[in-house]
Amino acid sequence: MSPATQASYLKGLDYSVLQQCMHCGMCLPTCPTYDATLMERSSPRGRIALMRALADDRLGVSREFAKEMSFCLGCLACMTACPAGVNYAELFEMGRAEVERTKVSDALFRRLIRWTLIEMAFCHPPLLRLIGRLMWLYQVTGLQWVVRQFGLMALAPKRFRELEPLTPKVQAKFSFDLIRETERPQGPPKRRVGMITGCVADFVFSHVNRDTVDVLLENGCEVFTPRGQACCGSLHGHNGEWEMAKRLARRNIDAFAPEKLDAIIINAAGCGSHLKHYAHLLHDDPQYRARAEDWDRKARDIHEFLVEIDFKKPAPPASCCANGGPGRVTYHEACHLCHGQKITQQPRQILRAIPGLELVELNESTWCCGSAGVYNITQPEMSGKLLKRKLGHIDRTGAETVVTSNPGCTIQLETGIAASAHPGRPVVHPISLLAQAYRRARL
Ligand code: SF4
Ligand code: SF4
Repeated sequence: MSPATQASYLKGLDYSVLQQCMHCGMCLPTCPTYDATLMERSSPRGRIALMRALADDRLGVSREFAKEMSFCLGCLACMTACPAGVNYAELFEMGRAEVERTKVSDALFRRLIRWTLIEMAFCHPPLLRLIGRLMWLYQVTGLQWVVRQFGLMALAPKRFRELEPLTPKVQAKFSFDLIRETERPQGPPKRRVGMITGCVADFVFSHVNRDTVDVLLENGCEVFTPRGQACCGSLHGHNGEWEMAKRLARRNIDAFAPEKLDAIIINAAGCGSHLKHYAHLLHDDPQYRARAEDWDRKARDIHEFLVEIDFKKPAPPASCCANGGPGRVTYHEACHLCHGQKITQQPRQILRAIPGLELVELNESTWCCGSAGVYNITQPEMSGKLLKRKLGHIDRTGAETVVTSNPGCTIQLETGIAASAHPGRPVVHPISLLAQAYRRARL
């Protein structure tokens, strides 16, 4: 079925979801787009009213509506603030799906980006890995340096010039080069878990994936990292491509076989938030519904899982010559961890257990950094404002290291820090700090 002939997503929603909002406005101060514009239509309450008007046939899908749905970060801060429990996540995804269905926003550049990323690269892991290899070559051969040094990007179209600084550093070894399909701990395994390596994370943060496996082994888990795993589908779900998201969910369920696992582990906040809702995604698929429910019961963010199993606390370094620890760090909370999954204390518990680490709280730690999936590509101006605000707060902590749990946030913060007055400050995943602490304890 072509998207235009599909039934309306908003009209297909349970109407009670559209009725939940009681217009109290408690969400307004927490919404970054309302904060930036002070316009009702750029607030959660305003967007919900627009979506309800569409479902009631009082409005048609317009370019203005498409713009608002694109301007919304999908950060879900409004859900945390809402006393009525409005399911904005579902409304947001349906609103974006409606924009895609009706094709009201079809600029050429946008179509090209969507097709390249969403339909091609993120649906075909071998193609994404090939892109990763080409990016790695571009970086290690010095071509990127030449392009930057001699200002060659000035010859490229404006949108490409804006994207180039966001190119993350690609690792020489991808996740499957560093992690065997099955790895066993010393001694009999206490649990068998599946490991999701992610898409961009597979080649940009393969070292974080390796650290995650090391931490799981240290905690007595046998780790299964299937080669046939696919993208989790969050990018597709958040951008209104439901049918693709369903296909990817089915592929992952087949690759992991959740019935043979105690948990399915993910270290990326954005993916985790989506991965816990496969049952909702596949509720009308009789062949996969029960397996999707099993999947959801077992899907765990790594921090959440470690606290649940009472993770092994790293001992202080055995040798007096060992490095003393990471020092002063501050923690930026990824939206889809704190708002999407309500995981706020577990990463802090892990950080506080690390010898030689001083955690300095970050002002507005739950305020979006502007990464938000592909938001820094589609909305560079607003994304840049949010990044500047975040970097200001980070500077005021005096932290040597920034810690965060989402690949998108890490790339966004690294890009901002590299261009700032303090370019040397690293951005690290909490699990990498824990893995390093276990290694230090053995020195
Ligand atoms: S998801 Fe974020 S940007 Fe969108 S309405 Fe909610 S708080 Fe505002
Ligand atoms: S806080 Fe909840 S109920 Fe109140 S206006 Fe916002 S979305 Fe509606």
